[in-house]
Amino acid sequence: MGGPGRSRGMMAGVPAAAFRRIAARSVAVAVLAGLPGVGVGWGGGVAGRDDGPAGRPGSVGTAVARAGVGGGAVARASGGVPAGGPAVFAGQAAAAAAEGDRPAVARYATKRWIRHRVVPRERLAGIAARYRVREASLRRWNPEVGDEPEAGDVLRVYTDFVPPPRRLRTVTVQPDDTWTRLARRHGIGSWDLRAMNYRPGGRLRPGEPLRVWVDPIQQAAIDAEWDDPPLGVRPGAHGVGSPDDGRLVAGVQLPERPAYIRKIPGSAYGTTHTIRTLVRALETFRRDTGFGGRIYVGAISRPRGGRLGGHRSHQTGRDVDIRLPLRTSIPQALEPIPARRVDFVALYGLVRALVDTGEVVVLFLDYPLQRRLARAAKSVGATDEELAVLLQWPRGRKASRGIVRDSPGHDDHIHVRFRCGPSETECRGLDPEGWGDLPVRDVIAAHDPRGAVKTRPCAACGRSERGVGSASAAASPRRARPVARSRAGTP
Ligand SMILES: [Zn+2]
Repeated sequence: MGGPGRSRGMMAGVPAAAFRRIAARSVAVAVLAGLPGVGVGWGGGVAGRDDGPAGRPGSVGTAVARAGVGGGAVARASGGVPAGGPAVFAGQAAAAAAEGDRPAVARYATKRWIRHRVVPRERLAGIAARYRVREASLRRWNPEVGDEPEAGDVLRVYTDFVPPPRRLRTVTVQPDDTWTRLARRHGIGSWDLRAMNYRPGGRLRPGEPLRVWVDPIQQAAIDAEWDDPPLGVRPGAHGVGSPDDGRLVAGVQLPERPAYIRKIPGSAYGTTHTIRTLVRALETFRRDTGFGGRIYVGAISRPRGGRLGGHRSHQTGRDVDIRLPLRTSIPQALEPIPARRVDFVALYGLVRALVDTGEVVVLFLDYPLQRRLARAAKSVGATDEELAVLLQWPRGRKASRGIVRDSPGHDDHIHVRFRCGPSETECRGLDPEGWGDLPVRDVIAAHDPRGAVKTRPCAACGRSERGVGSASAAASPRRARPVARSRAGTP
């Protein structure tokens, strides 16, 4: 079966080697993931209203186990510096990591204690995701924090992964600005923006300054794409936390396009990365296969993510349900969908178009249907080698192999989970790298034996945008005042 792989029409332009590379990565990812089950039911989500949990204090993850609180002996050391280990300020690490043109994550060879200064509207779930630690651990290390921390609190975090801290940006309100538009422009929720700038009546006045705490990595991506976004899909929509327990910030709606039909527009909100990748994959599928039937895109997420009726996941804008393509000789709106009505060759093309993006973590499809999918794939030239990477079948529905996995209820639609986007600092990924393609700099060589990151004096201090970590210096008189270098200084 080695020969025909390159001659398949639908695979035109996709070298088999590239597919294998991508697939192998996704397999590793899926194995690690342990494959949690996913909510069942095609189109089971209620039509989403803009009433998600985001934007209200204490609404995210506050029910997470408090059992660990009080158990953190290390965290109780006085002065905010945990005993037994050096402390690094988040701002310092960021300064070291931001040597290049773009703000980047500081990645250490070993875990260490850092301190995180909480900015307005930051919540534990997001902070935990940011440092790739569990929320329960964060609570255990910081027993003095109640349900949610307050701005100015300093949290102790044990991690080797330190994104640059949020920075204060001052923005001047323009005549046509709205809270929502300004929030999206800075990758935050509109209620968070209002809370950062409380005013009686809530009215925006042109010319007045607003305080916005922006994530430098996300903001750099937004600034670069805001005026001319790829595919017309605005930047800045990002997930916080995991698909089973998280939310979506500044969610972007799947645009209407000829290649597909949105089945539940109110629940068709995703991250920028998910929506763009999905649109590209579906248009590639149409072009390469010539499939003429309907493609229905079902539930993705609600505008602010969170729980979606009938689904366990779909909370952070990177899970997408797509109805199985039907044979074009039968009515396309037909439901329910017996397997005999499914066009499995088209389904194979669809799965390949999605997986070939390299951005699929896992794709759920009922196990018996995988067998039919394999048969159809072989009929159009798929190799055994390729299918072994692509499918769980025939290893059994419990096997931790293949990108396509069994999950109950996925017999009339596939469920696709995309990776975290390249600037999503608070997206909790399933893959070993976990942070999509965030710019990461290994700073192992940049810190001294005590663990303090060497920093340079900050030329931009006192301007409108500065690192949060720098404000933590008072707690550590032995070190020079650490500062984060400001690169994106123009509000
Ligand atoms: Zn689903």
